Order: sequence, then C-alpha cells, then structure tokens
Amino acid sequence: MKLTRETLRNKLVFLGTAGARYVAFGFERQAGGLYFNFEGINFHVDPGPGAFVHSHRKGIEPFWTDFVILSHRHLDHCADVNHILEAMTLGGKNKRGTLLCPSDAIEDDPVVLNYTRKNIKETVIISEGLRYSVNNNLSIFFPKKHIHGVETYGITFEWKLKTSYMADTSYFDGLLEAYAGSELLILNVTLLLPNPAIDHLSVPDAVKIISHIKPKLAVMTHFGRTMLKAKPWEVAREITEKTGIKTLAAYDNMIIDLDNLSVVRQR
Ligand SMILES: [Zn+2]
Repeated sequence: MKLTRETLRNKLVFLGTAGARYVAFGFERQAGGLYFNFEGINFHVDPGPGAFVHSHRKGIEPFWTDFVILSHRHLDHCADVNHILEAMTLGGKNKRGTLLCPSDAIEDDPVVLNYTRKNIKETVIISEGLRYSVNNNLSIFFPKKHIHGVETYGITFEWKLKTSYMADTSYFDGLLEAYAGSELLILNVTLLLPNPAIDHLSVPDAVKIISHIKPKLAVMTHFGRTMLKAKPWEVAREITEKTGIKTLAAYDNMIIDLDNLSVVRQR
C-alpha cells in the first residue's frame, strides 16, 4: 500500500525495524527509521541506511518532511540523513525544515554535512530536558540522556496522544520516570537476553519498563539477531500476557493509526 499526503495523516510508519550491525548492515531487515505524521506535520526519526528509498517506495516523498531528528550518530540511525535533508530542500532550492540532533552529530567527524545543513532552516542541538514547541498542540521533548556510548536521546512527542520513542540505551531506572505517562511507547529492544557488554535493551528490560509505564500500546523495534531468531511477534505475545499491556513487534513498513492505535491493514 502506497501512502498519500491524506492517508499519511496521523500515522506512524516503520521504515525499518533492524537493530545493530548484523541485522541492519546484513540487510536482514530495513533500517529506514520511523516516520511520524502529527496533524499534517512530518517527522523522520533516525533515517538509517536506505531511508530515502524505503520512504519513497512507501509513497512518502522525502520532500514532505518537515523535521529530521537523530537520536544519535550511529550509522544505522543516520546513514541517509544527508540524502533526506537534501530531498527536504529539493537540493537546496527551498530553504526549509529543521534538524534536531546531538552535538556530536555535527562536530568533528560530523555525520551531517555542513553543506546540507546550510540549506535547511534551522539546526537544533538536543540536550537533556530540551522542549521544542512545534505549535500549540505539539512539542518535541527530550526527557533523558541515554547510556549508549555516544550522545543519545529518546524523544517524547507531547501531543493529544503522548508518544515516546525510547531509543538505544542500556537499562537504567531513570528511564521509568523519564517516559512516565507515555500512551504509545516505542522501544528499541535489540537483545533477547541481557548482555552487560552491549548498551541495548533486552526483553527482560522491556518487561520491566512496560509494566511500570503501562502505556496503552507498546511497540518493540530495532531487533538484533537474537530477537529475530526468537520471532519478535511471539516475544511480543508473551510480554502482553505477562504485563497485561498490549505489546506488538514492529515489522518493516508497518503503519500505526495514531488516532486509534490500531495497525493499518495493508494489501
Ligand atoms: Zn546505536
């Protein structure tokens, strides 16, 4: 199913669900990031490798994008950022759009080129607690710095449906308070089992987080190999049973209707 500007309204599209090196760079799943539309305004979060192609194939024209947000500078989250920014401005023709990213994404060894940033309207450096007001109905909030090696932030869209994206991180108790009250909670659950050597959430972490925050809907994404082998949809069913909170495993090109939190049926 190809989206149009009309059918994209108030939707979330998973342009990728790959996490970490084998799945993202072995192309076992797409890694194009998350595409949110809130009342006609478009946000491309974490445009990893293939984001440009995957969005276009889904009918989403990259020049529709109003905001690009990078949770952190790892390439599975930003490999296509320059391409997306260039598309957003139609090759620099229209100076428009906003990039929000951590400082280390644009400092020495930048992942975003000065050249593409020059063509957009504004670059905003993310810091813990930053709140960016989009309009009266919508703000973007960065509640917490995560633990992930490089500077990393999750995102809360403060909208009529409080929607949070818990980006890559090791588990720490501060996450529970930082994302409290989220109604839709998207979590990057890369590992099936905890591995202290890897700064990613595991399934037991997800269970703890979901049962504490109690969103209306939890959606896991950013799967590593151990998760894919365990069949994420079966893991999600077990988490739903264990926590009593409806939990889904995202799949590539899955669309969620943000007006009613249902998965859109596609042909
Ligand atoms: Zn990462």
